[in-house]
Amino acid sequence: MKITLLSGKTFEINADLGFDMKVVYSGRSRRLTLRIDKKDRVAVLTIPKYCSRKKAVSFVESHQDWVRDNLSKIPELRYFKNHDKISLFGKEYTIEHSPIRGNTRLDKKNKILYVSGGIEFMHRRVKDFIKKMALEEFSKRSAEVADKIGKTVHNVCIKDTKSRWASCSTLNNINYSWRLALAPEFVIRYIVAHEVSHLKHQDHSAYFWALVEFLEDDAAKGREWLTENGHLLYTYK
Ligand SMILES: [Zn+2]
Repeated sequence: MKITLLSGKTFEINADLGFDMKVVYSGRSRRLTLRIDKKDRVAVLTIPKYCSRKKAVSFVESHQDWVRDNLSKIPELRYFKNHDKISLFGKEYTIEHSPIRGNTRLDKKNKILYVSGGIEFMHRRVKDFIKKMALEEFSKRSAEVADKIGKTVHNVCIKDTKSRWASCSTLNNINYSWRLALAPEFVIRYIVAHEVSHLKHQDHSAYFWALVEFLEDDAAKGREWLTENGHLLYTYK
């Protein structure tokens, strides 16, 4: 097994450990650490500035059972399938394949998401539908919340980023991950309050957090949910 550092330096591990690993070379950290990145499904090794190759390799080798064990606990990657139940903006829907029914659409009354076209394209169509719905919902919600603090959102975009759930630029553009559409309602409200608060404070200062709390009573709960369960939103391919 070969470990390639971000700096381009390479470590070789003789034993084939059978798992993927990301290596971070850190000037700040004082010791070797291993953690599991549940979103990327890899182990992450942090190597401090002064650390021999031998030490890093034996550290990984001695923790390989722990890594394998924890990687195996990550839920399998899945696809949207016929009859799956999914939560969209806090409401549960059943996916129903409906080749003759025209466009993919939500039947809110009967809580069904009808998906048209060939069944082999179902996953992609559901994902496209969620992205479209996310754009509408997040645009509407962001504008409403921004209005409460006398601000205007310039533009909302839907992305698929792993590093962050959402972001807000100084030009008042907000990006949201489409995966947030699958999160519980209070989590969505928290994220919107968070990004909209950045229209006023471009930092994570006490003033910023006070504004988030002012806009959303469940902010702390939403934030906690994302830390604990956020990786579950990445189990869909
Ligand atoms: Zn932020």
